[in-house]
Amino acid sequence: MTTLRFHAVKASLKRTPLHIEETKRRSEVFGANVFNEAAMRQYLTKDALKSIMEAIEKGSKIDRFLADHISTAMKEWAISKGATHYTHWFQPLTGATAEKHDAFFETIGDGLAIEKFGGSQLVQQEPDASSFPHGGIRNTFEARGYTAWDPTSPAFIYGTTLCIPTVFVSYTGEALDYKTPLLRALHAVDKAAVAICKYFDKNVRKVSASLGWEQEYFLIDNALATSRPDLVLTGRTLLGHSPAKGQQLDDHYFGTIPARAMAYMRDLENECMLLGIPVKTRHNEVAPNQFELAPIYEEANLSVDHNSLLMDVMQKVAKRHDFKVLLHEKPFAGVNGSGKHNNWSLSTDTGINLLSPGKTPMSNLQFLTFFINTIKAVQTYEELLRAAIATASNDHRLGANEAPPAIMSVFIGAQLTKVLEELETVTRGKLSPQEKTDLKLNVVGKIPEILLDNTDRNRTSPFAFTGNKFEFRAVGSKANCANPMTVLNTIVAKQLIDFKEEVDVLIDEKSMKKDDAIFNVLREYIKTSKDILFEGNGYSTEWEKEAKKRGLSNNKTTPEALKVKVSKPAIALFETLGVMNQVEAQARYEIEMEAYILHIQIESRVIGDIARNHVVPTAVRYQNILIENVTGLKTIYGAKFKDFAQEQLTIIEEISKHIAAINSLVTKMIEARKDLNKLTDLDKKASGYCNVVKPFFEQIRYHCDKLELMIDDELWPLTKYRELLFTK
Ligand code: ADP
Ligand code: MG
Repeated sequence: MTTLRFHAVKASLKRTPLHIEETKRRSEVFGANVFNEAAMRQYLTKDALKSIMEAIEKGSKIDRFLADHISTAMKEWAISKGATHYTHWFQPLTGATAEKHDAFFETIGDGLAIEKFGGSQLVQQEPDASSFPHGGIRNTFEARGYTAWDPTSPAFIYGTTLCIPTVFVSYTGEALDYKTPLLRALHAVDKAAVAICKYFDKNVRKVSASLGWEQEYFLIDNALATSRPDLVLTGRTLLGHSPAKGQQLDDHYFGTIPARAMAYMRDLENECMLLGIPVKTRHNEVAPNQFELAPIYEEANLSVDHNSLLMDVMQKVAKRHDFKVLLHEKPFAGVNGSGKHNNWSLSTDTGINLLSPGKTPMSNLQFLTFFINTIKAVQTYEELLRAAIATASNDHRLGANEAPPAIMSVFIGAQLTKVLEELETVTRGKLSPQEKTDLKLNVVGKIPEILLDNTDRNRTSPFAFTGNKFEFRAVGSKANCANPMTVLNTIVAKQLIDFKEEVDVLIDEKSMKKDDAIFNVLREYIKTSKDILFEGNGYSTEWEKEAKKRGLSNNKTTPEALKVKVSKPAIALFETLGVMNQVEAQARYEIEMEAYILHIQIESRVIGDIARNHVVPTAVRYQNILIENVTGLKTIYGAKFKDFAQEQLTIIEEISKHIAAINSLVTKMIEARKDLNKLTDLDKKASGYCNVVKPFFEQIRYHCDKLELMIDDELWPLTKYRELLFTK
């Protein structure tokens, strides 16, 4: 039993870093495997190119005839790059990506064969959808689902397969994936933001949301990781005593990247370059063997696709380097977890970042408008934002070791806080010209300080303004960014619509000037959004108390957090903006609750098994050794043996106590599971798993970890934290 651990340790010690060639400049290989504009120019007719470009920019439809031409061109391009198959690539609600490969190859009779890929195969496919989660949608409506081409995210070749990004919807049109609602939310925020931009610049036609994610992960030797059944089956360690040295010394953060990890990163980055994923930053993170990778930000839909693709590629590349990538939010107790900061901003087709303080007074009023509306949106919908990042795995991270808490708040820094304070005092109604200029200019003078603020930013804030973007930091490392991005863009869209209505009333009915109207509405927003602003330490008990006073939600667990998704206002919000209808919202809620239950159920089984099949037998074995020792001492020393065997006797008793506790706890936990499995009510079942089953984990772990400290290291079967975390 113990051999696996030592085999793994031995194997891990023999590794050497792979040599990674980089013969060409990155700029030369960037996007080589992407059917991007450059490739399209080469392979498409002018009309087809124009049609695709319009589809990307304006969301217009591509007609059937052109689709045939595009598919043929795509096939030629793909074959020239060595592709043999194609697949519709989509993001079902399992959280993973899905693909079903078909060969281009087709027979045409008489023993002849050709390579074929028609327009209809490009535009639409019918994967066997029955095994993807659908939360009752397809039971109620239609048994089938289909995937449909998303021309806004370019096709790419991975391995020998042409991958076509698609949406996945039921035959009745309900979204069965992450991408569909995201596209709808991006459309909503585009429309709402353009309407606001028109106050400032009539030429603005499109506003796009940008996303730059920062992916944190652990890189663990593959042999060591696979020697741990809990890591293999649940993605995190359910047991394990903290090593004598953890992250206390902070000597890993931003330190030299270990050679094997560096080779992995270079290899990964090369793959990313080919796939057009613009990765730029790499560094060590706080915990040992924890790292981060970040790209240059992109349009949100593309960026979400790139992150999903990246998470796949990370695992694949890791195999070559004998690593396993842990994307779980909290793979190890007691050390930092992993997040995925979602850096978000809005920008116009005229090239303006709406969240960047501008150089002129007018552009600053525009900045203030978007800045304050975003804060107001978070204030109003904080609970929905919390729900957007709720998963069983992220629950372990939120509120622990430098991670943001479950309470949503916005950090804006000292300088902008001052700006808002001043804005709050502006005259009601018409402002004096001096007042206006002062206010608008105020931001200008402060830009350098705002940027300075960032270096000293507050890591525990779930939602922070960092100079020219908001950073949603509560997102989990494993998450598909589409979910939080859908919610964020939806709530901002809704807020902008409400804002416009209020401003227009002042202009039309109170005959106010545009500027005055905007200032007046913003002033009221500042007053009503104060409760969401928070600059302090996010995981202090004082903040918990204070937040409660302010009426902010503090939903610590996923079942609690998800409820708001099916509240009347939430459903109305998604419906009004055309992001999700009631059926879709309800289905998603059910899928997420079910996923939660399954997650805890699996962890519960695994911890029960490990405790009983690994830990207890090892404890008994060690206890027998001690008993043998004591018996031996008795033979030699007779009645005097206790003088020499006291320690051993104490340990023998301690071991028995821990074994008894483990057995009793595991039995109770199994009983609790059995009871809960009889329930049909999803809410009750999820909350039972959360509040009855899950608490057993800590208790069982406590006894197992105590045994780990007591038992001879030679006998201990589970690869230890120090081996997992400090093998480079
Ligand atoms: P940090 O200090 O958080 O590490 P970085 O400057 O490294 O900040 O940026 C982190 C991420 O934010 C990167 O992916 C970057 O491309 C992205 N980012 C920068 N500016 C914007 C923006 N205006 N909108 C969205 N994302 C942005
Ligand atoms: Mg960041």
